[in-house]
Amino acid sequence: MTGQPAAVSEPKTVGPRASLLRDDPQWADVCLTCGSCASACPISGVDNLDPRKLIRLVVLGRIQEAVDSNWTWKCTMCGKCEEACPMNVEITALFRKIRSMREREKVPGPLHKGVLMALRRGNNLGIPRSEFTDLLKEVGEELAEECCPGFETPIDVEGANVLVTLNSKEPFGEPDDMKFWWKIFYAAGESWTIPSENWEGVNWGLFTGDDEAMKIMVGRIVDNMYRLQCKRLLLPE
Ligand code: SF4
Ligand code: SF4
Repeated sequence: MTGQPAAVSEPKTVGPRASLLRDDPQWADVCLTCGSCASACPISGVDNLDPRKLIRLVVLGRIQEAVDSNWTWKCTMCGKCEEACPMNVEITALFRKIRSMREREKVPGPLHKGVLMALRRGNNLGIPRSEFTDLLKEVGEELAEECCPGFETPIDVEGANVLVTLNSKEPFGEPDDMKFWWKIFYAAGESWTIPSENWEGVNWGLFTGDDEAMKIMVGRIVDNMYRLQCKRLLLPE
């Protein structure tokens, strides 16, 4: 044996991962592809949506495909997939992170426009303050005539127990729907109020992965809680 010892090759190492979505194993790397999430998902199969497929895209580093896909936008964020997952993959957080990577102008439907409107006017549909308070008073008067004698819509009542936020589609298109829970408050003798500004309870910043907008909207509700010294918060969604 006169030959030179065989050269020892350098150990191979895996470099830092380039993927923005795989910085925590909880995001996707522990997925077993068992399909429990797909079985639990109420919209599995709609337009071929399958949460497992989206997770595979991420695991395989096909991030742009995941971002461009409309699957995450069809997801309701109900969380049933996570409950079913044996590996505790944080599927909804992953989907929201994918949404956050979509260019804002390409966010589907009215969602991003609603975010901009909420930032500008305090609600997703841009209802002006005076129109809003006039409507609330009018609906309250109807309710008093129909079945709740003496009822007056409590707007900006300091010290009320419950601060109530609204889904703007109610005052915009279905104002009678507000009466259902106003009746419950009336029957229960509850102390509650609706703020005249920044009353939107549907945070499309949350839904669209826009953290900055989400924080501003949440902060405004917190400000209302302090301003009116309420103890509890009711969010419709
Ligand atoms: S349930 Fe969890 S482990 Fe199974 S396929 Fe879905 S994400 Fe992967
Ligand atoms: S959170 Fe989305 S993917 Fe998960 S079960 Fe609900 S709709 Fe399906």
